[in-house]
Order: sequence, then C-alpha cells, then structure tokens
Amino acid sequence: MDADKYLIDAIRSQGRRLTRQRQLVLEILQDSSEHLDADAVYELAKSRGLKVSLATIYRSLSLLKDLGLVEEHRFGEDHGHFETTQDGPHAHFTCLRCGRVVELEAPKIITAARAHGERAGFRVVEVTLHLSGYCDECQNEMREEQP
Ligand SMILES: [Zn+2]
Ligand SMILES: [Zn+2]
Repeated sequence: MDADKYLIDAIRSQGRRLTRQRQLVLEILQDSSEHLDADAVYELAKSRGLKVSLATIYRSLSLLKDLGLVEEHRFGEDHGHFETTQDGPHAHFTCLRCGRVVELEAPKIITAARAHGERAGFRVVEVTLHLSGYCDECQNEMREEQP
C-alpha cells in the first residue's frame, strides 16, 4: 500500500483517536525504512519540532499498536522496535554482532503458520518470524579478525 494512502486511511478510520501527535509518530515510522525503537522515535519527533516526553511517545506507540496500525518486535532484546503494519507479512533477520535488522520476504511460511493456528481453533492476531545470526559483512569481518 502506498505510504500516504496508508496514513489517510488510518486517520479516516481512527480519526478521533489519532491526535496530531500520534499522527506524527505514525508518520515517523512510515517514513523510516528501519525498525525504530522508542528512543529513536522520540529523537525524530523532537527534530520535527514536537514537544513531547519519552513517556508520551511510549503511550502513542502503544495506542497505535492497539489500533493495529503499528507492530512491535522484540528481536531478542528487552526493548521493542516498531514499524507500521503497511508492509504486510515479512520475517526479520537480526545480526547478533552489528544489530542490523533486515526484512525477509516470507509470506508463504507466515500464511502457513497462521492457517495452522486457525485450524487449531485460535484467532491468530500476529505471526512473528525472527531469525538471528551474523550478516554477510560481519561474517567477513569476523574472518579477517581471526589470526
Ligand atoms: Zn552484522
Ligand atoms: Zn519489518
């Protein structure tokens, strides 16, 4: 879905609950190709002239999550990374060395996992597929570091 339409649809369907501030948080996530954590969203919000506290950013993110507009991923860390749900199902790879997050196309396996859960009688809300290991660059560097 194209980014502007995503935001417009979101505002239209959730209009009353999407304050200017929450819209901006959504815009920040939408404009970023990365998986931002709350601190990064906070810094970007400040750089766009929004006067908010980190706690407010957390609350906005949590509301956007409840509205189904934003997803949170843990990636094996104690803090979440956020992205809009506009990209459709995909898997994530995180590098254990440099922390890089890469998106992987994996709709088939995700659809299959969802169907599996539904066959078991569950109402599946989210399917998360997370791979971790070492990215190609880190593998190269690790080879060079070896004596
Ligand atoms: Zn790496
Ligand atoms: Zn992603």
